[in-house]
Amino acid sequence: MSSLWNDAEAAAYAGDLAQRVYTSRLLGRDPALVLHGGGNTSVKLTEPDLLGRPEEILYIKGSGWDLATIEAAGFAPVRRRALLDLATLPALSDKAMANAMRCAMTDAAAPSPSVEAILHAVLPHKFVDHTHADAIIALTNTPDGREHVRRVYGDSVVIIPYVMPGFKLARLCAEIYPQAAHAGTVGMVLLNHGIFSFGADARESYERMIELVQRAEAHLADRGAWQIAVPEVTVSNKALRAERAALRKAVSAAAGTPLIMAAHTNAQALSFVQRAAVSKIAQQGPATPDHVIRTKRLPLIGRDVAAYVQAYVEYFDAHKQRADAPLTMLDPAPRIILDPELGLITLGKTAKDAAIAEDIYRHTIDIILGAEALGGYQALPAADLFDMEYWELEQAKLKAPTKAPVFTGEIALVTGAASGIGKACAEVLLKRGAAVIGLDINPTITTLFPRRDFLGLMCDVTDETAIQQALEAGAQAFGGLDMLVLNAGIFPPSAKIQALQLDYWQRVMRINLDANVVLLREAHPLLKLAPNGGRVVIVGSKNVPAPGPGAAAYSASKAAMNQLARVAALEWGADGIRVNTVHPNAVFDTGLWTEAVLQARAANYGLSVEQYKTNNVLQVEVTSLDVAELIAELCGPAFSRTTGAQVPIDGGNDRVI
Ligand code: ZN
Repeated sequence: MSSLWNDAEAAAYAGDLAQRVYTSRLLGRDPALVLHGGGNTSVKLTEPDLLGRPEEILYIKGSGWDLATIEAAGFAPVRRRALLDLATLPALSDKAMANAMRCAMTDAAAPSPSVEAILHAVLPHKFVDHTHADAIIALTNTPDGREHVRRVYGDSVVIIPYVMPGFKLARLCAEIYPQAAHAGTVGMVLLNHGIFSFGADARESYERMIELVQRAEAHLADRGAWQIAVPEVTVSNKALRAERAALRKAVSAAAGTPLIMAAHTNAQALSFVQRAAVSKIAQQGPATPDHVIRTKRLPLIGRDVAAYVQAYVEYFDAHKQRADAPLTMLDPAPRIILDPELGLITLGKTAKDAAIAEDIYRHTIDIILGAEALGGYQALPAADLFDMEYWELEQAKLKAPTKAPVFTGEIALVTGAASGIGKACAEVLLKRGAAVIGLDINPTITTLFPRRDFLGLMCDVTDETAIQQALEAGAQAFGGLDMLVLNAGIFPPSAKIQALQLDYWQRVMRINLDANVVLLREAHPLLKLAPNGGRVVIVGSKNVPAPGPGAAAYSASKAAMNQLARVAALEWGADGIRVNTVHPNAVFDTGLWTEAVLQARAANYGLSVEQYKTNNVLQVEVTSLDVAELIAELCGPAFSRTTGAQVPIDGGNDRVI
C-alpha cells in the first residue's frame, strides 16, 4: 500500500469539498482499502444559512455512491448540530435515524447520508476517512485481535469493540472516543470492521490512513501473514458445463429466481477451494459484516444445495427473535460456492452482482489466509452477522422491491451477434436483463459490448469443437443457458439450379443448417436445465413459405432448418423447451445491404430506395431491431404457452398471406 497523492492532480481540486472528493477517490482506487460502496469519508465546513448565520455542515458520503467515482454531489450536507444531538439519545431505530438525518440536510435533493454520519459528526476533526482495509480486518479477525492492534499502533489509535454499524456504533464511539483520545491520536480501529483516520486537511487524513494500513501490513508480513504465495494448481480440462448448469438450476430453485453463476478457476481461487482445511476456515463467516448482504454468512462447500438451504432456515429460525419486528426470511440460496472441481463460484441476480460477490470473496480469501497465519481466522458470532443481514433498512428494501427486467438472471446465446439482426438481438436481450453470450466469426465480437453481462466469443459455428468450447466458456462465465437464438447464416449470390456447384450448395448447408444441428444438439442438455424452461428462436426466412428463383440453396437450407425446428419443438416439449421461428423479410439495415446495392436493386424493380424498402402490405420498413424485439418477445412470458410457431415479420407479404 502506498500513497497515491499527486500534487499536480490535487491542484485541480480547489476548496475543501473538492479536496474531499479527490482523496475519497484515491481511497476508492485501492480495492485493498474499500470495495463496492464500502467505506465513507466526510469533511466539516462552516457555511451561512439562509439568514446569513454561520452553521457547521458535515458533508458525508451519500448512500449509493462509490468512493472511487464520487463527485461533490455525492456528499450529503447535514447540520452537524442535529447529528450531535442524535448522538445523545439512548437508542434510535435505523428508520428513525435515517429520517432524522434526511430532515437535517441543507439540500433536500442530496442523497441520503451514510449510516455512519453520526459517527463522523462525533469525531472532532475536520477531515475523517473510514475504510475496511484488508490488513486491518485480517489483524482483528483473530483471537488476539486487540493485542495485535496495540502492538502495531501503541496508543496512537482508539480501539472500539465490535457493535452493529449505525446508531449503536456511533453511540459507542461518542462514549469511548472523547475519553480515550489524546493529542497523539491519529486514528480509530473498529475491531472486525475497519479503521478511521483524521486530519486537518484532506491530504493529512488520507496519508494517515495509508500509513496506518502500511503498519498493519508490515506487522502481518513480519509474521508471514501477508501476500502469501499462491501454490501451483492443475486445472482440469474436463467438460463441466452440464454439471455447472445442474448446480445453477438447484441454486436458482432455492432462490426462487434464476441466478447468474460465475465460476473462477485461477490459481488463487482453485488453491483455496482445494485446501484440506477449507471446510473449517471458510465456515467461520465473512471478513466484515457488511459483506453478508453480498455473500451470505457462509459459502456452500460442495454441491449439496438442499443441506445449505436447511442450515440457512435453521440459522434464520435461531436468530429471528432478535429483531423487534417480525422478519421476512431472505432467499436461502448461497451466493458463494466452493467446489474443488467447479472452482470458486459466485452468484447474483445479475452478472454485476456475481462479479461484486467475486471481488469481495477474493479479498476474503486473502484475509482468511492472513488471519490463519497470524493465529487463526475468527469471524464475528452468527448473531452479530444476523443483525447485519436482517437490519431494518435491508428489510425495508424487501417490502418495496424494484421491478427487475424480464430476463434478469437468465442467459442467452446469440449466433452471428457481431452485426445486423444478431447484434440487435444481443442489445435487446441485454436491455431486458439477460446475460448474453455472443458468437461470431468476426473478431470484433470480443469487444462489441464492454460490460460484465456480455461474453463475446470468436467462433466458427461450422466447427463442432469451437461450439463445444463456446458453450463451456459460457457456462463458466454465467452458469448455463436459458435462451438460444440461431441467427448466423449466409445469403449466397444468386445461382440457378442448372448452374449449381456442389461445393457452393454444401457450404450453404454447412453454415445455415449443419451448424445449427450441432448447436441444438450441444445446447439441449443446458436448455433442459434452464430454471424457467429453455427457449430457442430460429431466424428463418420469408423464403421458407415463399421461395425465390435463384435462391435454391438458401431456400432449401432455411426450409430444412424450419423442419428441424418443428421436430425440436416436438421432441423437446417434455423437457420444457419451447422452439419457435421468425420469418423476416427485407431487413435492409444489415451489413449485406450497402446503399449502392439498395439503389441497384430498387432500380431493377423501377422503384425508389424508399419504395423498395417498404414494398409490403403494411408499407413499412422492417429493421433488425424490429426482428430482435419479436425474438425477445417469443422468449418472454407472452409466448410461454407457444412452441413450434412460425411468425412472419415482413410487413405482410402477399405471397405468404
Ligand atoms: Zn464501515
